[in-house]
Amino acid sequence: MNIDKKVALLTAGLAMVLVMALAVISLYCFRQYSIAFATEQVRTSAEIVRLNLTEAMIDGVIDKRHSFLQRLNDIAGFQSARVAPSPALIRQFGAGAVEGKSVEPDQIERQVMATAEPVYSLLNVKGETQFRGVIPYIASARGTPNCLQCHQVAEGTVLGTVSIILSIERLKRQALLTVALIVLVVVLFSIIIVLTTRRLIAPISATAGDVENAVKLALNGNFQSQVELRTQDEIGHIARDLNRLLGVLGDGLGHIADSVSQLINRKPVPGENQINATIEMVEILTRAAHFKQAIEEDETRDEIHKRLAYVLENEFYVTEYSLYEVVSARNQMRPVLVDGVSGADCRWCSPEILVRNETCRAVRTGHRVDGVASPGICYAFQPPPDAPDRQHICIPIMQSGSVGNVLQIVTAEGSSALHSQMLPFINVYLREAAPVLESKRLMETLREANLRDPMTGLSNRRFLEEYVDTLLASTQRHKAHLAILMLDLDYFKMVNDNYGHDAGDAVLKALAKTLRQTVRASDLVIRYGGEEFLIILQETDAEQGALVAEKIRAEVEKLKVSLSNGSAIQKTISIGVADFPEDSATFWQAVKFADVALYRAKDDGRNRVVRFAPEMWDDKQAY
Ligand code: GH3
Ligand code: MG
Ligand code: MG
Repeated sequence: MNIDKKVALLTAGLAMVLVMALAVISLYCFRQYSIAFATEQVRTSAEIVRLNLTEAMIDGVIDKRHSFLQRLNDIAGFQSARVAPSPALIRQFGAGAVEGKSVEPDQIERQVMATAEPVYSLLNVKGETQFRGVIPYIASARGTPNCLQCHQVAEGTVLGTVSIILSIERLKRQALLTVALIVLVVVLFSIIIVLTTRRLIAPISATAGDVENAVKLALNGNFQSQVELRTQDEIGHIARDLNRLLGVLGDGLGHIADSVSQLINRKPVPGENQINATIEMVEILTRAAHFKQAIEEDETRDEIHKRLAYVLENEFYVTEYSLYEVVSARNQMRPVLVDGVSGADCRWCSPEILVRNETCRAVRTGHRVDGVASPGICYAFQPPPDAPDRQHICIPIMQSGSVGNVLQIVTAEGSSALHSQMLPFINVYLREAAPVLESKRLMETLREANLRDPMTGLSNRRFLEEYVDTLLASTQRHKAHLAILMLDLDYFKMVNDNYGHDAGDAVLKALAKTLRQTVRASDLVIRYGGEEFLIILQETDAEQGALVAEKIRAEVEKLKVSLSNGSAIQKTISIGVADFPEDSATFWQAVKFADVALYRAKDDGRNRVVRFAPEMWDDKQAY
């Protein structure tokens, strides 16, 4: 029930109670008034009758009193008047002495004679309300003439009663009419009050309804509604201020929502709750900012990939996806995460994209490839037979103007709409990740360059210094041997001298290639100095190491390096071999021993392999 109806009901109820109370009180008062008035009338009339009777006694015409009493009845409102003698009067004058016939007192008259107190009562005679008063005549000695001069009774004796009956019907009708008038006036007044109150309350009630609606809509993110200005009082001020507030909130929130939408690149959905959508967007931006902070402190790209996987799986409930890394230099790409597993094989795409990255549409175009909106858009998307209903959305992650990574989200038919809705939010994370991935990649490239010899492509001495701890830990854990080979080209200086520095470089490059091809992939080939190389054969002792060294020596001997002038150079190499930990429990000492063995090879005539022996070191120490 609204406030309008409540107030109307309350005022109407109060008015009814007031009318009823007034009617009851008025009726009671009029009744009391009528009785008092009739009592006075009866008293006065009784006194007149008494005086008349006394006069009649004095004049000796007491026996004519009957006609006097009869005439009294002719007075309007008089119903009857009669006189009843008391036993004392009857004793003196006899029963019929008064009237010529006896008047038998009724019960009330006898009571009055006995008590000498008047009795008044209301009668209802044939529907007419009458008032009866029975007044005692008491013998008094006051005045002249007085009662005792005629009556032989003691003073105070009741001589008789006068009984007068008056009709109070007229009074009663008058009273009822007056009460009816009062009630009518009050009812009219109440109606005016109710109507006036409603008139006053109506704008309050209507404004309250408007405010309620406006607040409801505002809670749903709609600030367009306005409250009608109905009055110029406080209610009008509330309406005006609320309209202003709605305007400010609508504009402010709209502005924030627009800015945040632009940041997220998300179009507003018609009919959505603007507040909730904005809160959601701000939350995503906040979480993405935390994500960026975290990945900036991550050490490797792999950690960043895993953190991205965590976000995809736990925040966006994406479980089937691939993250690819584009290797532009080699026109390749490689999967770094497939369905959350790092280093797994391609599951959702043709492996062709790995060796020719332009076959990946996202890499080629640099645009998002939406297989949900356009099924079959990319032929390289080839879901496995156990998941034929999948669709894909591939998002390129741009780094330095080209595609650095591609995130492929795979969705089953039922959840594709959901994933499409989440894309702007996922994009926020990818946008945050892109520069960090780029800088990490750059750092790793730089680091790698620092550890690699640019001319031969082999690792350099710094790499060995960084890697040696890991290498030794693994060797010691497996209680394995490392065969350490120190190599130096024989009379290399002559190449530079005779053919020029470029020819020397060409020989070094060709040698590096031969070395790399002659040993296993797990073995380390390091350019240790100008034309000195160090080869570390893992899980190989000196004996086997010497065999490999011999193989290398023979390969180098066969190697012919063609020069631009058409001639070819052939060189030989000398190799010293040491064993870690057999020759020395200290790795760098073992390297030194390999160098000592190399010197011995040179001394012994070059183009040979020499296994280190402790006496070589003793001899050297002797110098
Ligand atoms: P030995 O048989 O005693 O080793 O004689 P060698 O002439 O090879 O003597 P040594 O090992 O001392 O010679 C090193 C030469 O290698 C000196 C330098 O000119 C040459 N060299 C070092 N690094 C490079 C390089 O990067 N390019 C070229 N072209 N030559 C280099
Ligand atoms: Mg040398
Ligand atoms: Mg040399």
